[in-house]
Amino acid sequence: MPDTHGVGLRVLPRSLDPLEDESLRGYLLRLAHLYGAAPSEIAICTGLVSSASTRSRVRIPMRFLHDLDEQRLNAFARATHLTSDEARRLLTAPLGRRYGPLNARLLAETRTPAGILQNNSWILTRTTRYCPRCLSGDGSAIQERHGGSWRRSWRLPPVFACLRHQSLLLHGCPRCGQDINATRTGSLIARGSEAGLHPAQCRATLPGTRTVCGAGLAGDGVDRATQAPATVAALLRLQYYFDGLLAPDGPKSVGSFGWMIPAAQYFIDLRALSGLIFMTWPHARELADTEALAVLVDREAERRHAEFAKSRAPIGKQRRASHHYSDPSADPVSGGAVFGIAARLLSASDETAAHEAMAPIIEGAKDRDFSVGYQFRSLNGTSHPLKVILRTARQDRSAFQRMGQRIEDQGLSRISSELIGDLE
Ligand SMILES: [Zn+2]
Ligand SMILES: [Zn+2]
Repeated sequence: MPDTHGVGLRVLPRSLDPLEDESLRGYLLRLAHLYGAAPSEIAICTGLVSSASTRSRVRIPMRFLHDLDEQRLNAFARATHLTSDEARRLLTAPLGRRYGPLNARLLAETRTPAGILQNNSWILTRTTRYCPRCLSGDGSAIQERHGGSWRRSWRLPPVFACLRHQSLLLHGCPRCGQDINATRTGSLIARGSEAGLHPAQCRATLPGTRTVCGAGLAGDGVDRATQAPATVAALLRLQYYFDGLLAPDGPKSVGSFGWMIPAAQYFIDLRALSGLIFMTWPHARELADTEALAVLVDREAERRHAEFAKSRAPIGKQRRASHHYSDPSADPVSGGAVFGIAARLLSASDETAAHEAMAPIIEGAKDRDFSVGYQFRSLNGTSHPLKVILRTARQDRSAFQRMGQRIEDQGLSRISSELIGDLE
């Protein structure tokens, strides 16, 4: 290992070029593999964490996944021979430009960029999704040795499939069944003080032991997909649409309930609808792309309903725990199923159609729990068309005219009919 004592020597003799869409976690795992070192040692050498604590206890905070302060970022970039921009691209913060649930400005929140991870289940920090074929690498010598990219985008719940390999993402280890980064400490890298693991190995600790699982997560043999071709095709189509919106050069605005809204905000609308769909399931069941997807949501909604019923309003508060409905699915497939329904609802051609589709869901949410339903209907950062639809109870012509006027007042324009065709 390079010398880490003494200030000013924190530059690795060799480094790696970041891979496409690579996350800081993946990059650290590859560097550790390059040196045969523990990820925590690399984190110390590169100035991410201080060496003051004993190495066996070094924890790399999960929040580093999202953002680093300037000083840390610059030290890390220097140590790894990257430019500051290259180092910043390893973080999920830049994804907020296209993905509203990570965009403090759209959420109208005063949280610091680092704080946006707190209580934000719309970036996956406890679940680690992956594509086994991406982890195998692209056949180049460097990826043959250290594996492929652990992608940042796999942290976004609306990313549930890999278009490069035309397959659904996996979550959980094929051998031990746990999350592959299962950790009690909220650490970016589980078993971070352990050297010798390949970046594409499961880092969960086997229950009741101190042994790391170590199962291989890369390659064709890992994916034991059981979904029917029609289900996979429906989810890949939806992923294609979402990936287009998430792309840095994607469209600025997108249709939502017949109005053009900023693409990043679309994902906040999706978040609100996803919570309402779970909360009122099976109201929207008929909108599922396939029966297999509906059955998956049946099971998940049943579990959520049971947990919600068990939950009690915290003392001094009126509301019960809405997170039982608002948390996105850990499972990429049932997650994709609900997003498919939400996207279909948002593709309504105008507010009359939107209200017709949404009315049973709005009523269902009120029936199940009025205050939690209201919470979903008034989430921060949702688009004006969604806000108006969710808050307008009466379905009559004059109400819709006022509705349209209110949305227009916000400077939004109506979607053109050709675009509606594209979305359907
Ligand atoms: Zn892939
Ligand atoms: Zn495992």
